Parts: sequence; structure tokens; C-alpha cells
Amino acid sequence: FDIREETLSTAEKEFENALRPLRFKDFNGQKNVVENLEIFVEAAKYRGEPLDHTLLYGPPGLGKTTLSNIIANELGVGFKITSGPVLDKPGDLAGILTSLEPNDVLFIDEIHRLSPVVEEYLYSAMEDYRIDIMIDKGPSARSIQLDLNPFTLVGATTRSGMLTAPLRARFGINMHLEYYDPETLKRIIRRSAMLLKVPVEEDAAIEISRRSRGTPRIANALLRRVRDFAQVKGNGTITNEIAHIGLQSLNIDQYGLDEIDNKILLTIIDKFRGGPVGVSTIATAIGEDAGTVEEVYEPFLIMEGFIKRTPRGRMATPLAYEHLGRNSYAGNVM
Ligand code: ADP
Repeated sequence: FDIREETLSTAEKEFENALRPLRFKDFNGQKNVVENLEIFVEAAKYRGEPLDHTLLYGPPGLGKTTLSNIIANELGVGFKITSGPVLDKPGDLAGILTSLEPNDVLFIDEIHRLSPVVEEYLYSAMEDYRIDIMIDKGPSARSIQLDLNPFTLVGATTRSGMLTAPLRARFGINMHLEYYDPETLKRIIRRSAMLLKVPVEEDAAIEISRRSRGTPRIANALLRRVRDFAQVKGNGTITNEIAHIGLQSLNIDQYGLDEIDNKILLTIIDKFRGGPVGVSTIATAIGEDAGTVEEVYEPFLIMEGFIKRTPRGRMATPLAYEHLGRNSYAGNVM
């Protein structure tokens, strides 16, 4: 049961799009981010200017694409979507930039994965709404400057640490999305269930929210799977019992930790006696990139109380020992 974005099937993507809130008022949680964005959007609209370039930073599935779409809707402008790895050459970017209408929103997902040449090309577009393009070939080839319509770039990244300083400096608005608390996730599940016209009992919604790893994308995906169980094994309603059966057969653990989360905890406990151990050592041991461990996995494990950050490295907490059925917690000084 893999839920990373790049592994989503077309059906799953369509399902996601159907559940995407289109207005700020339907977007649950991230109160601080939403309140600020609402003001910035309102002010830009009032002045008839594009919104400042906006960087959204946070783990996958927390609503970065959704928010950028909402920004465009609320501004009443067009929305174009692309991603860092897809923009191979400056020409790819030029094609999109020249197609933008005044004040449109261009969303670039995984902006930390832009190639250096494309990134540099983006600078003048962001700063002066101007790009250089090459015309003609051979000896008569020359570059001309082209004025663009003013636009807003919304960049999304899971890895803020991988953004270059010059790119970061060109974003006037910088927002950090946090993992969702179970109460907010429950509201998201209820809203999705309503849109899907599938009844869900309160206990069941709570159970699903607890196992969603703080992530709306996972909450919606679990709801979709559990709905199958309700329709095949039950009478269509997602009861607590159905939710349990469904979640169990999907191998979702009771805290919603995924395979890599558990690997990180096991590594700290079994290979490093509970820590303290450095992030890069943990990352090497599980074959992941240190930045991904630090920016994508660790924040959730810390928030849920499985890991503590100490000056000498990361330590597993008693909760981690208990969760993994390890009873030899050494009681190291935290
Ligand atoms: P990201 O771009 O950060 O990876 P998305 O914006 O694609 O995440 O969100 C993933 C899914 O979760 C979408 O189907 C979206 O509808 C849902 N979702 C995300 N945030 C919220 C929210 N705050 N309220 C309701 N649904 C949300």
C-alpha cells in the first residue's frame, strides 16, 4: 500500500481532484497559512496586481497543489501547473510563460528539482516579467528579449533545504504547511465522505483520521479503500468495525506510520541502541537521502513523540520502543 504521489494511478489522481477544495472556506486546517494568504490575495485583487511569488513548503500530500489552485480561483485568474523535473530546457519554460494571461498563477511542483539552467532562466521572468529567447538558427541566430504578462509563480517543495538562495530570495511570500491534527483530518474525511455520498460513522472517521499520518492525501486514500470494504463486506456504511477490518487488511499500523517511519525507528533502536545518532547515519543505514529523512520523515515522528532531537543526535522515545514491541528501553538521558 504505497501512497507517494509519483506512484498514484490515473484513477487515484482523478479521485484526488474530485475531492480538492476549490475555495479557502472549504480548505480545512493550516489556519495561519490560510488567514495570511486570504489577506494577500484580497490585497492583490484590490490593487489589480499579481500576487507576490509564493513558496509553499511541506511534506507531500498536505495541500500545496490544492492551495495554489485555490489562490488562482480566489484571484479569479487562470491556473497552469507543471513541475521541476518536467521542465527540461529553458524552451519548455518559455512556452508556458508566454502563454500566461495577466496575473495568472503558474504552479511549479517540486521546484527544488529544476535544472540549474532552467532555474536561472526563471529569475528574470520572476523579477522583471521578461525572458530572452533565441530566434533563428545558425549564423543568424540571436536572442531577443520578450516581455511577459505579469504573473504569480507558486512554487511547492518538500525540501526547502535544497532550494538555492537566489531562488528562495525571489519569493515574496513563504509559507510552511504542517501535518494535520486528527480532529482536522476527521473533518476532511467527513467532507470527502459527503462528496462521495458514502455514510461514515463518527468512530470510523476518528479511526481513519488517527491512521492517516497527519496527511489529507492519506486520509482520502484510506477512505477510498475502506469504502470498498463497506460496500462489499457491509451494507455501504463505513462503520467502526468495517474501518478496522479495512485498515487492518491494508497493513496500516495503529499510528499510521509507514514502512520508512518504522525502518527509521528500528534502525535507531536496534542498530544504535536507541541513540543518540546523527540523521546522516540513520539515512545511510536505511538507504535514504539525509535531507529527505530530516525534512519529510522526521518532523512527523517528532510531532507524534517517537523521536527526540538532542544536541548529540536523534533518540528513540519509550513510545517508539513500546510501538515496536521492544522492551529493552535503556532509559538513556533525554
Ligand atoms: P501536495 O500538493 O501538498 O502534495 P495536494 O494539494 O495534492 O498535496 O493534496 C492531496 C489531497 O489531499 C487532495 O486530494 C486534496 O483534495 C486533499 N487535501 C489536502 N489538503 C486538504 C485540506 N486542507 N482540506 C481538504 N482536503 C485537502
